[in-house]
Amino acid sequence: MSGDAAPPTDTGYDEWVASLGDGGYYLACPDGHGSLPPRRVCPECGSDDLTERDLPETGAVETFTEQHVAAPAFADDVPYVTAVVEFGPVRLTGVVRGVDAADVEIGQRVTVDATDHDGSGRALVVFRPA
Ligand SMILES: [Zn+2]
Repeated sequence: MSGDAAPPTDTGYDEWVASLGDGGYYLACPDGHGSLPPRRVCPECGSDDLTERDLPETGAVETFTEQHVAAPAFADDVPYVTAVVEFGPVRLTGVVRGVDAADVEIGQRVTVDATDHDGSGRALVVFRPA
């Protein structure tokens, strides 16, 4: 990266979510720890030498929660599932789509995407069965 380019750690969370539509990325320190924007230092070792790495194409569902009560923007989607998904060294939290809430399983392989759910321009992390 040239000296004029803004460091990747300047990228905000919303921009990072939007990048998920193109496959997404995470931040890696020289020791291989992963973290996500808008962090500026590695949460494990404190290194500020973070570089962007492509996210793995699929992740594994680590935990999930079925939501029966939703904010107004999500009222039409109830019940829906929010999940924490492990993508290599990082964990992403988002909403699972494309599968019935009752069929989501621990360890299920999913891909990640971003969607502009309610037209507000605020992107949402979305997982779909791989
Ligand atoms: Zn580190």
